[in-house]
Amino acid sequence: MRTKPLKGTVALTFDDGPTEIYTPQILAILKKYNIKATFFMVGVNAKNHPDLVRQVLAEGHAVNNHSLTHPMLTKLNNEQLIKEVNMPAVIINNIIGQKPLCLRYPFGASNQHVRDVIRQYGMAPVPMGFNSFDYNRPGTDKIVSWVLKNAYSGQVILMHDGFAKREQTVEALPRIIEGIKKKGLGFSQICAEKTPTTT
Ligand SMILES: [Zn+2]
Repeated sequence: MRTKPLKGTVALTFDDGPTEIYTPQILAILKKYNIKATFFMVGVNAKNHPDLVRQVLAEGHAVNNHSLTHPMLTKLNNEQLIKEVNMPAVIINNIIGQKPLCLRYPFGASNQHVRDVIRQYGMAPVPMGFNSFDYNRPGTDKIVSWVLKNAYSGQVILMHDGFAKREQTVEALPRIIEGIKKKGLGFSQICAEKTPTTT
């Protein structure tokens, strides 16, 4: 299992879902381009949308953990921390019969203790990757140019399929994919059991 993309590729990652409006639209775009991505799901959203969790996995994407309710893990007491780390793994395992391999800590906030607890519960802690800032909804053109300017071999690109309005992410994604291909880069997954590459 890798937490970094293969050489000559980037990894597309989607956080904070699944959500019923945007996750299916993102899945349809990824399917059209035959690209496998990695989804870091919030546990409560996974629990509310088990069909979407199953669909994400069935379409070849990696299902991973992004905490139960999206708090700053560094600000929790130990009991809360364990709940935020372990509960989503249990929820995801109950839905798809496999545990997530990684936990991406919300807001990029971690410390040694947080990372130790994540490892203790059987997951690799991963940082947030290159921030597309799509959640600020600065306009599709800005998202596209910001991501493409910073797309290079080994880059992990962070976008969002939840919580709020993500129509700009959906609009930007095909242009981001095409721009990355034009740069001669391929796509590979992180935090996936099998790690197919698409070029
Ligand atoms: Zn998040």
